[in-house]
Amino acid sequence: MGKCKHITRLLSDALDRRLTTSEWVAIRLHLPTCSGCRNYRKQIRLLRVAARAASGIEVPGAAGADE
Ligand SMILES: [Zn+2]
Repeated sequence: MGKCKHITRLLSDALDRRLTTSEWVAIRLHLPTCSGCRNYRKQIRLLRVAARAASGIEVPGAAGADE
């Protein structure tokens, strides 16, 4: 399932840059069919919020840094 690698990469990129329309379309088509990628998106969002709340500053690479 190389698709998931691509999608999770886009989800993580989305935190740092604007995705193109075709990238969003790929995500939106894939997420409803894949609980793994939905969970990944949930996780990186939580990590991002938690990192900001804890430090008050931007933490590069915070997503996926710790389990
Ligand atoms: Zn997937």
